[in-house]
Amino acid sequence: MTVLITGSSRGIGAQIARGFARKGYSVALNCSKSEESAQRLCARLREEYGISCGVFRADVSDSAEVKRMFGEIRESLGEVEVLINNAGISTQRLFTDITDDEWRRTVGVILDGAFYCSREALPAMIRKKSGVIINISSMWGEVGASCEVHYSAAKAGLIGLTKALAKEVAPSGVRVNCVTPGVIMTDMMKGFDRETTEELRLETPLERLGAPEDVAQAVLFLAGEGSGFITGQVLGVNGGFVI
Ligand code: NDP
Repeated sequence: MTVLITGSSRGIGAQIARGFARKGYSVALNCSKSEESAQRLCARLREEYGISCGVFRADVSDSAEVKRMFGEIRESLGEVEVLINNAGISTQRLFTDITDDEWRRTVGVILDGAFYCSREALPAMIRKKSGVIINISSMWGEVGASCEVHYSAAKAGLIGLTKALAKEVAPSGVRVNCVTPGVIMTDMMKGFDRETTEELRLETPLERLGAPEDVAQAVLFLAGEGSGFITGQVLGVNGGFVI
């Protein structure tokens, strides 16, 4: 089985990749800038788990780059049977200060990226009558985040994409689900000071911040046979932050 995890050079995506490698999948790593870190992860996964693994650089917001990436993956690892749309960026900005570029970039990476990658992956999945797509949205796509309207809008769009696409491709044997993480400690949280991070921890009913492994476990469940009757769903991994 071949899995592609977009944005897997670091953070949540890297941990998801590790989870699939542990299960013996052939793993396609993707990044846009952090190629060195993706190559290091790739070497470690090959060495630790004896799997096939490759790094495929592409900006997922660019449909031509996504098309090229899928061609390269097909050549070296075969058709993508499990797609994890994980690549994402976030910035904090007052709504009236969001520039056209910032809006387009955020929606481009998160929403266009998932659209382009899913569109490339689906024909082979439909032909085979099996496949799994998992979109990494956010709890802020469910409830809205102040000063992150562009991010919330893109993540909410990803939930809509999940539900509509799940209905369309279910008769073709393809399942599409969505994971909505809460506060997960990765580079994405670097912009927040210690005080804000502590406030977020205290706001989380389980009184801890999430780790990339928390999200990876949910993704592995949704990709596995144990979730064979689950499609079009939104699984919150947020310590109870959003109930
Ligand atoms: P990180 O910032 O740690 O990692 C982001 C990853 O996305 C990197 O591998 C980065 O690679 C990649 N990426 C960014 N832009 C592009 C692009 N245009 N094309 C391809 N890859 C790209 O973030 P997290 O691991 O924290 O986040 C992963 C996902 O989880 C995101 O979608 C995020 O929105 C979501 N999420 C995170 C939460 C958190 O608290 N951390 C909470 C809720 C959701 P490169 O460096 O090469 O660009």
